[in-house]
Amino acid sequence: MMKQILVTGGAGFIGSHLCKRLLKEGNNVICLDNFFTGTKNNILPLLSDPLFEIVRFDVTHPYYANVDEIYNLACPASPVHYQYDAIQTIKTSVLGAINVLGMAKSAGAKVLQASTSEVYGDPIVHPQTESYWGNVNPIGIRSCYDEGKRVAETLFMDYHRQNDVRIKIIRIFNTYGPNMHPNDGRVVSNFIVQALKNEDITIYGEGNQTRSFQYVDDLVEGMVRMMATGDDFIGPVNIGNPHEFTIRQLAEKVIELTGSSSKITYKDLPHDDPKQRKPDISLAQEKLDWNPNIQLDEGLLKTIKYFKSILK
Ligand code: NAD
Ligand code: UDP
Repeated sequence: MMKQILVTGGAGFIGSHLCKRLLKEGNNVICLDNFFTGTKNNILPLLSDPLFEIVRFDVTHPYYANVDEIYNLACPASPVHYQYDAIQTIKTSVLGAINVLGMAKSAGAKVLQASTSEVYGDPIVHPQTESYWGNVNPIGIRSCYDEGKRVAETLFMDYHRQNDVRIKIIRIFNTYGPNMHPNDGRVVSNFIVQALKNEDITIYGEGNQTRSFQYVDDLVEGMVRMMATGDDFIGPVNIGNPHEFTIRQLAEKVIELTGSSSKITYKDLPHDDPKQRKPDISLAQEKLDWNPNIQLDEGLLKTIKYFKSILK
């Protein structure tokens, strides 16, 4: 059955893939975005679909649409962009959560929060399970994002307990793919853009820190499956690819797959940069019957192809 679905942050990297998928399933999709890090280019191919609408709006203000489902993705996700205006970032997470939850309450909608592995901070438990409470610095340069997302999770749980709002919380681990902005600042897009331009590849620190990279199509599948679960499962649930790589391994892989003549250069490690990150996905496997299907080489090749097409 056709549903009315609101996607906040729908013009961003993940949001644009999600909007495309929801339209393909025959839903009416409202993409709400203030275009801080998202772009019209990402959703240009969707504009001709009569079931697609765009609203330029900032989620720190109340908004109302009589929808069945809300995916709350609005929030800059790259450290460079979320630190650019830290106060706006925390307002986006906290006021944004209050506003979408209020809307969900009035509309009787189901609402899914795009939370993050950053709620685990610089994790001491490895791999990270949902039961781990995390190791977050409350006063550091990443706190506007980490604590903002943690408060958003709290708000989701409290609106659920206090007001019976139907919620879903997913904790997304490092995701990459086409539609990342070339100046996004995150590691996969930085390395690919640098490699394609034969510029130095910038490793922060020594490159021994680890991340586990998920291709965007796998994430979107997990999001849609999570939204479709019954009211008895609300999460939080980790959605990520558990294959763990050091940042140096990633740099070497990108150089190899692009055939670039780039050299590696080392820069200062930013404060509070997590040393390791890898999701335990047993809960998603059990509750969503979900597994990531696209491994790093295949996903990187698709992403390299995308950046080649926009950089030429
Ligand atoms: P992105 O920066 O490409 O997308 C974020 C979108 O939100 C952009 O279109 C931006 O313009 C919009 N936005 C920002 N502030 C807004 C506001 N106040 N009002 C309305 N729109 C606003 O990032 P992304 O990677 O697509 O991330 C999407 C969501 O997923 C974010 O909530 C992010 O925290 C979460 N997430 C992403 C990852 C990842 O690896 N990509 C990991 C964990 C969590
Ligand atoms: N990183 C890097 N070079 C870059 C960008 C990032 O070495 O040009 C490192 C960064 O310090 C971190 C890892 O890559 O250790 C992942 O960074 P990203 O910003 O993509 O995401 P997050 O730190 O939020 O996981």
